[in-house]
Amino acid sequence: MTDSPEFDSELHRTALAQLDRVAARLALDSDIHERLRFPRRALVVSVPIRMDRGDTEVFIGYRVHHNTALGPTKGGLRYDLGVNLGEVTALAMLMSWKCALMGLPYGGAKGGVRCNPRELSPRELEHLTRRYTTEIIHMIGPDLDIPAPDLGTDEQTMAWMMDTYSMTQGKSVPGVVTGKPIIVGGSAGRREATGRGIVFVLYQAAKSLGQELRGKKIVVQGFGNVGSVAARLLWNDGCTIAGISDVKGGVWNPAGLDVRQLQDHVTQTGSVVGFPGAEPVTNEAILEQPCDVLIPAAVDSVIHARNADRIKALIVAEAANGPTTPEADVILRDHGVTVIPDILCNAGGVVVSYFEWVQGLQYYFWKESEIIARLQEIMARSFTSVWRTAQKSGVDLRTGALMEGISRVADAHVSRGLYP
Ligand code: GLU
Repeated sequence: MTDSPEFDSELHRTALAQLDRVAARLALDSDIHERLRFPRRALVVSVPIRMDRGDTEVFIGYRVHHNTALGPTKGGLRYDLGVNLGEVTALAMLMSWKCALMGLPYGGAKGGVRCNPRELSPRELEHLTRRYTTEIIHMIGPDLDIPAPDLGTDEQTMAWMMDTYSMTQGKSVPGVVTGKPIIVGGSAGRREATGRGIVFVLYQAAKSLGQELRGKKIVVQGFGNVGSVAARLLWNDGCTIAGISDVKGGVWNPAGLDVRQLQDHVTQTGSVVGFPGAEPVTNEAILEQPCDVLIPAAVDSVIHARNADRIKALIVAEAANGPTTPEADVILRDHGVTVIPDILCNAGGVVVSYFEWVQGLQYYFWKESEIIARLQEIMARSFTSVWRTAQKSGVDLRTGALMEGISRVADAHVSRGLYP
């Protein structure tokens, strides 16, 4: 196997270890395995921005296309201080498996700019987004590569990207990004899609385990777009939300938090910290609280070899990308914890992105109820399929999900052959 030191990072080592393990299990053709270990193309750009203080700061950005065997590439754009080439490359690889697993006609991609978006003003964020989009303009397009929101980016980021791309084309091109505001071609239900998809998957998981989701005790790490929606929907459905955290810290009440009041508290204060009637808990300690379902919905590698044996949850639902390291995976499996892997658990976002893209290409928009029903069907079907694969092969759900995703991409390579 060829070495690829330029992509080295913790998450990339995790992604490669997962691929290598599953390739061996699938007895994948070694030529195709070798090709899947590398991104198809990766671009590094510098993004100079005139800051509000008057000086110029240069940010580093990336866009990586992992694989194009199944179609144009798809994947989010993140603004975070942890962004580097290795992380973005690993996340692009995960998107390849995720899209293939969900039966979407896409390869995987990812982008990122290394910055702290919380320290940038709206003007600086707009300039950063527009200049970054201009620097990667040849890498994106409705039938080439379609960005979407991820950590630190949102609907507004996508509106600026779409506008910047459209200005270079002399016409509106809604299909170049997904996760846009509805007024400029976004889809009903996209904002809630990742959180809602997690809930659908959890219902299916509970059913397969012969349990009832209602009344279960849930802990959510992360109260952004994904964690807050999952928490609210589960709370509406009669689950006890015992703990929630965000970047600043967490709150814990085993009798249950009122998620609507907590949301109001966050709107007023900017954080869950200080919510009345709950004990403070750190972002690390919240993972180890006693609960039925733990939802890591923040950043990668938070469950690792040093804390995995203290996780008390029966189910870990991976809302974030890559929250569990391979060493922790083994420990959780040995402790009988059911891990619903990221590429299945958080795929609701990219599934509704696909709906948005299809609606945009047809200039015909569906009702929210239709979006939710189709999302539910795809999430439930995919979970059942992964569950069966895992049972049949005697493996955990992550291995089952990767086996399905990776083998689909590999089949596409076999059928297309190697150019020239
Ligand atoms: N950023 C999300 C993910 O990691 C969504 C990607 C998309 O919608 O293209 O799956």
